[in-house]
Amino acid sequence: MRRSVLGVLLLAALLGALPQPALCAAAQPEPGPEAALDLAVLRAAYPGAVQGLERDASGRLALVLAGGRRLPYDDGRPRDAAQALESPDIRTMLAQIYPLGPVDEAAAHPPPGFDPGRARSQALFMALYGGTRAAVRGRCAAVGFAGRGVLFNARFGAAQALARVWTRLEGLLPGHPQWRDVLRPLGGTLAWRRIAGTKRLSMHSFGLAIDLNPRLSYWRTEPRPEEAPARRAAFPPEILAAFEAEGFLWGGKWASFDLMHFEYRPEMLLKARVLQGQATLP
Ligand SMILES: [Zn+2]
Repeated sequence: MRRSVLGVLLLAALLGALPQPALCAAAQPEPGPEAALDLAVLRAAYPGAVQGLERDASGRLALVLAGGRRLPYDDGRPRDAAQALESPDIRTMLAQIYPLGPVDEAAAHPPPGFDPGRARSQALFMALYGGTRAAVRGRCAAVGFAGRGVLFNARFGAAQALARVWTRLEGLLPGHPQWRDVLRPLGGTLAWRRIAGTKRLSMHSFGLAIDLNPRLSYWRTEPRPEEAPARRAAFPPEILAAFEAEGFLWGGKWASFDLMHFEYRPEMLLKARVLQGQATLP
């Protein structure tokens, strides 16, 4: 009797002492399919910049950049929508899938908090494109767009992609005189600045975003937000398609809408295309 009680106590002590994360890590040494896809799209979008995924001592996955820098891929922290925007890990950054294509009924009415691409790992973009105003400026090239010369980051094909967007649109302009009010006056591209109401750097800081006419609707200043679905649906589909084809996402598809804003996020567009069967990865 005494021996069996001791045995139970010993077993309970052993079970209690076993480190559960280590058990999980041992049972799942390889990244799951979501992590594998995220790694593949990051590698494809940012060639040479990403080494891989590694587990740390606690079993959490980290994204390892070229040069050895590690960023949390999945730090295990639960996040509400505000925390996801403020300090996402890489998994959170890529979790919402960008809705490709023309604005249909669903895209015109994104549910609250559906802002694919708006949660960004600032550390990742600083590592990829430049960590200071001067470093970013040194990597920017002039691109012709809507009759202006604008500065855009030349790393990872961003400036070339913006130039191709304009090439796609320029030939269509004569048939679409109404685009004038969408494209002009052009809001601009490179500007080292915080996102309004936050301490986070805007993607304009990295020379990776372009604002079309600033009079287009923005959630912070729109007096009639109930009209956002109609404004989304009225946006020229050819302009949207030209940007998406070149790896840009549109802030007009966010619940926190920003209809003037396009940003170069090839990893987000590629992930969406792979999940829709429109693209394959090596
Ligand atoms: Zn913008």
